[in-house]
Amino acid sequence: MESVEAGSSLVVPYLSEFPEEPVSSFPIKTAVAERTVPLPTPVKLTSVEDLALAVVPKAAPSISVEAEIVLSPTQARTFLGCSARWWFKYGLSLPEPKTSSLAFGLAVHRALEINFLHKLESKENLETAGMVTIFRDCWMEQVGQTVFRDDENPRVLEKTGERLIAKYMDEVAPLVEPAAVEIDVQGVIGGVPVRGRIDLIDVHGRLVDIKTASRRPSCVPWDYAFQLATYRQITPGASGEARLDTLVKTNTVQLVQQSYEVGESDLRATQVLYPFIKESIRNGLYLPNRDSMMCSRRHCAFWEHCQKEYGGTVPA
Ligand code: SF4
Repeated sequence: MESVEAGSSLVVPYLSEFPEEPVSSFPIKTAVAERTVPLPTPVKLTSVEDLALAVVPKAAPSISVEAEIVLSPTQARTFLGCSARWWFKYGLSLPEPKTSSLAFGLAVHRALEINFLHKLESKENLETAGMVTIFRDCWMEQVGQTVFRDDENPRVLEKTGERLIAKYMDEVAPLVEPAAVEIDVQGVIGGVPVRGRIDLIDVHGRLVDIKTASRRPSCVPWDYAFQLATYRQITPGASGEARLDTLVKTNTVQLVQQSYEVGESDLRATQVLYPFIKESIRNGLYLPNRDSMMCSRRHCAFWEHCQKEYGGTVPA
């Protein structure tokens, strides 16, 4: 296992590799209703204005909707990556087929959660062989709900997961001292209600987050720093120190541990951006970001809706 210092050159792991929080029960029914009403004919603009306003006009949700907006770090990441995607996913709650990357992350996450919940009570880890079996069961649960690409093989992924779980149990789990596992947290940042779920906080107040990735990360991604800064402010007992354990599903499996300490600039980012996001939602302004790393027919489940609503062509 190798460690990587925060702040070295950036190779951001593909974001959909990370297990996502459950889709929020974001109470935006009023906004949805307004969105589904036939839209007015767009005003004829000059070509430059037309480009700048490449979004279908939409009435702003009522103030009562604004009062109910609750965000999470995952929602913020989605919104900042592509606000149109946020709208399709959280505003309209359109179905999003589960990818193998997400399913794999969920299975790994669930298996390790079982181990650390056990350790919380007993102070001991489960046996590695037993954990491999637990992972296999978790993976089988996911397989039936997952859409695999033609070049993906569930059995190969299962074997990779087994090796990763065994490696994590042998090399990392013995050193983790959990104080709490899978805890829901909530609070207010910049005047915006925010909530989230923390994988694990250890006896030293350090947040430990476990993720899976197909590529080796070389530094702490910006969205993770944002997430940590969020949790630092809304988690009682959080010290501001954190560690990201990434399980990399390369042919030869790897574990990468990255330490991080939340700084002033991270805190400021959350205090500035959550209110901006809330304001954008309140105004109902959602722009497609066709330059996003996530923007392709392969990686965005909403690409057909996006083309229909905003025009243009989403890359293959
Ligand atoms: S297709 Fe691209 S621009 Fe459209 S919602 Fe998805 S990521 Fe955003």
